[in-house]
Amino acid sequence: MNTQPPIGLHHVTAIAGDPVENLRFYQGVMGLRLVKKSVNQDDPATYHLFYADGEGHPGTDLTFFPWAHAKPGTPGVGVVQETYLTVPPGTLEAWEARLLAAGVRVDPITRRFGERALPFADPHGLRLALVEGPDPFAFTPWHEGPVPAAEQVRGLHGARAPLRDIAPSESFLTEVMGFERVGEENGWVRFVLPGPADSGAGRILDVRQDPDGRRGAWGVGSVHHLAWTVADDEHQAALREAVERAGRRPSEVIDRFWFRSVYFMEPGGVLFELATEGPGFAVDEDPAALGERLILPPWLEPFRPRIEAVLPDLADRPAAAAGAPAAAPTATVDPAVTR
Ligand code: ZN
Repeated sequence: MNTQPPIGLHHVTAIAGDPVENLRFYQGVMGLRLVKKSVNQDDPATYHLFYADGEGHPGTDLTFFPWAHAKPGTPGVGVVQETYLTVPPGTLEAWEARLLAAGVRVDPITRRFGERALPFADPHGLRLALVEGPDPFAFTPWHEGPVPAAEQVRGLHGARAPLRDIAPSESFLTEVMGFERVGEENGWVRFVLPGPADSGAGRILDVRQDPDGRRGAWGVGSVHHLAWTVADDEHQAALREAVERAGRRPSEVIDRFWFRSVYFMEPGGVLFELATEGPGFAVDEDPAALGERLILPPWLEPFRPRIEAVLPDLADRPAAAAGAPAAAPTATVDPAVTR
């Protein structure tokens, strides 16, 4: 390949259920900072919540579309099965205690590709794993959260997805995107973007061949897409052209205001995005007050009163009483409106 590979993960976007529960978990238990409270640009009656480090650095950002009444996702081929977050070495036991105290069911601490990992699921079924690793991130601690700075999540580490056939994805990842195949363990094949640090933090994609697997479906608790960082518009255009030459039909460049985006599916069906590093979350808010007020891109600003009237109140409320009936799923997630 003659195009520069992406730098690493920029953000991971997932579908959540109730937005208040989502906020309570990611801010109140995981200790991430809500750095942007916005709306789904294709469905402005739905929030788009962005959690990150204290300054909202690219590579630390987990974002959610909370659709309280959508159906749960179906795990399967072509859908990300788990997202990895980096935590400092030696902190997994503290994390295990913190998650258990919050009522989260965690799996036993395990070792994958030589790294210690703690897999668990968030309250809406999204699979995550905290992975101990070195810390090559541009990272700013968030001091108003419940997690001590020395234990805070440093950023996105990687993700894994089962695929029906990994061969076409392998060619695409290595020849077009610039990943390197670095190893295989328990059926998972690890691809890593090249980079200066000694670990693959933020640059890992693991895939496993599941030839008889059913196609997964998006819904509450699934990852919607993986966004990879490109340095600037030029880098994005070069990679977009390479993706197009490979027959992957990338979207046009879409202005997401805090970054510019191109979307396409890799051959195994996982939705990818190429997102520019800038201009960043502080372009429209005081860095000290990130996430406090509803931010709309300029073209939605004229509709603010209508949008604010339909969005649910994010103020915390008592947790639902045990045994209270959950709202019945009423809607299927429409892939066309979920970027
Ligand atoms: Zn995105």
